[in-house]
Amino acid sequence: MRLGIFGGSFDPPHVGHLLAASDAFEALALDRLFFVPNAAQPLKQGVLVATPAQRLAMVHYAVDGDPRFSVSPAEIERKGLSYTVDTLAAFAERYPDAERFLLVGADAFATMPHWREPARIAGLARIAVLHRAGDEGAAPPAGIPAEAVVRLQTRRVDVSATEIRDRVRQGRSIRGFVAASVADYIARAGLYRQGTA
Ligand code: ATP
Repeated sequence: MRLGIFGGSFDPPHVGHLLAASDAFEALALDRLFFVPNAAQPLKQGVLVATPAQRLAMVHYAVDGDPRFSVSPAEIERKGLSYTVDTLAAFAERYPDAERFLLVGADAFATMPHWREPARIAGLARIAVLHRAGDEGAAPPAGIPAEAVVRLQTRRVDVSATEIRDRVRQGRSIRGFVAASVADYIARAGLYRQGTA
């Protein structure tokens, strides 16, 4: 089995995430791709607006009904700061025979030396770096062996969670930026209206 692991804040999950996941699913010939929303992102503390439970609910809304995608509550259930190495170790234990791929955006890949135990991460999964069309493919950061890295081209979808939160705060529509069920949830829960991000 070929397994993809796609972590992020997903605050909220948007079409950029879904299309990147879809491109990666095909390029890596995955059997299953897990979205893993983090409880607290060590490098992003203080900027999240939705609670972990709300982000988990939104990721479910975004992917439910799509047989390619699953949601793992592992990081949110673990609470505290989310370290990728712990998540991968848990996946390795649960799916020891799977070929595991950790999906990371090119921006996140560049910060990998600051993550906990980058070399162990590279031993637990291949690192699939998502390059949005037009991105430069930077060399692997220090401590990451080149053979652990797979480069993927994904389409450029110029949307970010930050922009979506801003749009909600400004009272603008986010239809088309997120799944309709996610937009409904954001409206129902009153998310992002007075955020600090
Ligand atoms: P924020 O605007 O809050 O920083 P974000 O939209 O970048 O959030 P994250 O949850 O931080 O979303 O992203 C999770 C992963 O998805 C990261 O690896 C990131 O590189 C990737 N990603 C985010 N937006 C896109 C996009 N438009 N296209 C492809 N990949 C994306």
